Amino acid sequence: MNMSVVRTTEDLRRTIALWRIEGAKIALVPTMGALHQGHLSLVDTALQRADRVIVSIFVNPRQLNDPADFAAYPRSENRDAQLLRDAGAHVAYCPPDDEIYPETFSTRISVAGVSDGLCGAHRPSHFDGVATVVTKLLLQTQADYAYFGEKDFQQLQVIRRLVTDLGISTRIMACPTVREADGLAMSSRNKRLSKEERATAPALSQILFQTARGLSAEADVAHTLERARKELKMSGFRKIEYLELCGEHDLRPLRDVSRPARLLAAVWLGDTRLIDNVQVLGRS
Ligand code: AMP
Repeated sequence: MNMSVVRTTEDLRRTIALWRIEGAKIALVPTMGALHQGHLSLVDTALQRADRVIVSIFVNPRQLNDPADFAAYPRSENRDAQLLRDAGAHVAYCPPDDEIYPETFSTRISVAGVSDGLCGAHRPSHFDGVATVVTKLLLQTQADYAYFGEKDFQQLQVIRRLVTDLGISTRIMACPTVREADGLAMSSRNKRLSKEERATAPALSQILFQTARGLSAEADVAHTLERARKELKMSGFRKIEYLELCGEHDLRPLRDVSRPARLLAAVWLGDTRLIDNVQVLGRS
């Protein structure tokens, strides 16, 4: 089956209605494009479970609060469409801005609690933008499954919360973070790194993994996190937005590893913000 590029809700509905008549199970993979192996791993996993896979490509202005960030966000629709065709996706849904946000658009989905800390504390209204667009995409596609990466761990928990709260029947599926050979989490933003910054970037995941091991073994969480912050600084990350140990589901800060935990960080290299997170195993 050839992949089609769909731009309007009407065309999307028509395609989905035909699939429903066939009894097909439908998966959605929401993205902002500039696709890499991390995105494609979601598509591959979706294809294993669903009969039809829709990949949305929409650079969402409401989640990129800084207009300069929105303008600078990499866009490569033709290349993305070819990658999706090769991967076996069925529809690339690439709506223009006014298809998602017509002039009269007035609704905002806001998820309290899990959105508040970490990225939410540093990027006002970011998760409202994410929650609003993902809700719209889930309702437009009525997907049976939707696939998200653990790379954006807080986003994943925000979406899990909203589908539960709003009674949306789509099953939210999480996929592990795909990394470069040197450990750097793949991200569309990595393209913006200079050669020197790219050489520094893998230290983030190295320090996170090493700190996670330390937290599983040592008693003092505050001390271990402080040491990790120093190591990040020494490695060349001049600005550390946050480095926190949090409960895996509620993302509340933890003082010990007595329940499933995640170590999450956001740092800056020049003008580029990098985020990453790793699981922290409890002490046995
Ligand atoms: P984005 O295009 O950055 O909005 O990401 C779209 C989806 O791909 C989100 O669910 C991300 O969590 C996921 N994603 C991005 N990078 C990776 C990665 N390196 N590994 C796994 N999933 C990823």
